[in-house]
Amino acid sequence: MGDLLHDGHGRRISDLRVSVTDRCNFRCQYCMPADGLPWLDRSAVLRFEEIERLVGIFAGMGVTDVRLTGGEPLVRRDFPRLARMLANVDGVEDLSLTTNGYLLERDATALVEAGINRVNVSIDSLQRDRFFQITRRDSLPQVLRGLDELAKHPEVQPIKVNAVAIRGFTEQEAIPFAEFARSTAFQVRFIEFMPLDADHAWSADQVLSGDELRAIIHAVHPLEELPREPNSTARVFRFADGGGEIGFINPVSEPFCADCNRVRITAEGRLRTCLFSIHETDLREPLRAGASDADIEGLIRDAVWRKELKHHVGEPGFRQPPRSMSAIGG
Ligand code: SAM
Ligand code: SF4
Repeated sequence: MGDLLHDGHGRRISDLRVSVTDRCNFRCQYCMPADGLPWLDRSAVLRFEEIERLVGIFAGMGVTDVRLTGGEPLVRRDFPRLARMLANVDGVEDLSLTTNGYLLERDATALVEAGINRVNVSIDSLQRDRFFQITRRDSLPQVLRGLDELAKHPEVQPIKVNAVAIRGFTEQEAIPFAEFARSTAFQVRFIEFMPLDADHAWSADQVLSGDELRAIIHAVHPLEELPREPNSTARVFRFADGGGEIGFINPVSEPFCADCNRVRITAEGRLRTCLFSIHETDLREPLRAGASDADIEGLIRDAVWRKELKHHVGEPGFRQPPRSMSAIGG
């Protein structure tokens, strides 16, 4: 292996998020407009072989964890084949997936066989009508069937359920999700609403903080904090009576930039060094113009060196990036 990948603030980068498509079959209020977005041309999207090559270059610099996301990754045709290609890249130790779960009932077995070993499923409500309200799709039963299908595979560990925390909505979800976490093997995480919505409707007062949610849950099911793992984005608590655990990802109220070890590649091959980056580095054009692996590695090292020290959400002068979450690859 060559030199490890570091940024200019002394952080080692070992985690790569790859968006495999900008398309999605849901229209979550906090992410996409009701009518969707103008999708990329298929020719603009990285081909499987291009993604495999980039992942190989990152792995050569010590990136061990690769998470596949989108848009909705499972709408990309033949996605399990890509997963298998990436699971076989030398140096990739952990291959995970973030999905809305709609196609999991169809794909779970193929994904596990391909080598996906951890999965996050995004579910914002356990009530069918409220799930519909947020995602604009009446698909909760379908998603829960997908989750159960996945749970038949003990190789996938852990399976997490992530809910975006929005003031005026998620308060009512806190106890049902806590009880879900206590009665199943799924690990529940709440994630604070971030200014990455395509409608640019985010405001600070719409963020329901992890602390507020924790207090709601603690009043009914007392919680005890577990030690924070290095590079973990979540604060994790166990139920004091031994009934499992629950976590809170607090990028707005309690940023975890100081030990951020992540970078991202968009579906069209742009490297983003922060969710909130305004600048991106195009890797697709050099890739298609015949650049060598060493050339691409140089571009990546330069961009990563300039990785943002921290995000500025909530500070005066903060600018929301032009891309929304589905176009970044969250
Ligand atoms: N479609 C897949 C899904 O929903 O899991 C993968 C892509 S989605 C962009 C990745 C994650 O970003 C989801 O868990 C989603 O809830 C989260 N997300 C999207 N917009 C967000 C926002 N404005 N604030 C916080 N999380 C957001
Ligand atoms: Fe699609 Fe995921 Fe965005 Fe919802 S959060 S619209 S499922 S990309």
